[in-house]
Amino acid sequence: MKILRRADEAAQWCEAYRKAALSIGFVPTLGGLHEGHLSLVRQARLECDRVIVSIYLNPSQFDSEDDLGRYPRDIEADLDACRTGGVDIVLVGERADFLPGGFQSWVTVEELTRKLCGAGRPGHFRGVCTVVAQLFHVARPHRAYFGLKDFQQAKVVSKMNEELLFGVELRLMPTIRSPDGLALSSRNERLTESQRALSPALGEALTRAGELITAGETSVRVVKEFMLERLGNTDGCDLEYAEVLQASTLSEFPDGVLSVAGEGVLLALAAVIGEVRLIDNIQVVGTGDSAKVGDGKEGGD
Ligand code: AMP
Repeated sequence: MKILRRADEAAQWCEAYRKAALSIGFVPTLGGLHEGHLSLVRQARLECDRVIVSIYLNPSQFDSEDDLGRYPRDIEADLDACRTGGVDIVLVGERADFLPGGFQSWVTVEELTRKLCGAGRPGHFRGVCTVVAQLFHVARPHRAYFGLKDFQQAKVVSKMNEELLFGVELRLMPTIRSPDGLALSSRNERLTESQRALSPALGEALTRAGELITAGETSVRVVKEFMLERLGNTDGCDLEYAEVLQASTLSEFPDGVLSVAGEGVLLALAAVIGEVRLIDNIQVVGTGDSAKVGDGKEGGD
């Protein structure tokens, strides 16, 4: 496994792979790798000749220096996980390559970033898109792997990829959870024991709300109130948002009547437990026997 710190070196290796007609799968990460990240690596390993992982704690997608400073980092453990996962190249990104002094060229996606995390974290998706665009130019991958745990991010990056003609095949993969239902996140390790015990409530609220919909509930208000009620009164859990949106556009349903047709309904929430901000979502497609409440479809967008 090659461990590279310079973007131009990674670009040269990827160019050599392409010249040798080898397909490249790319998994961008912030580090703090866990089974969620490794599920993306495994899928890339299955589908591509070469796998490149980037580990770059992109400062431009953080709201505060504080949050950035507290983000879990263990580069040796990350490199071990990549080695075990059969990764060919790890690009350990450095700020000088991605956000040098005087930086002023940003990529923004508009409508899709207005709600959910985009509303509460101004500049977050601009930071994500800009660095993902840079990384796409570096690796020029055939396929790139993103988790539906970050549903809005997956949608926003898909839009950017499509509209800015990157031509990368995006593979959006299901959320990996711990056995008690908590979506895996690098941030989970900052939860205390009692906070960790509280946190499966997020996934549970989503699942129960999804079941209301598959049982026939069509009122956005009823489903939203159900989630607010379940989580609003949970001591130690500070709810930032609980939303019921069209999964295809991340916009409100007209007249407050939800529909499970097409890409169906996205139930999404963000909450702060202790000092740790957690997000989770599920997608609900179909009702009755054809209903699917899940962590996202397998495969491309
Ligand atoms: P991050 O390092 O948090 O930026 O995540 C890197 C990639 O891993 C993103 O595409 C995330 O959506 C994905 N990811 C993070 N957690 C999970 C999870 N629990 N299940 C599936 N994918 C995940």
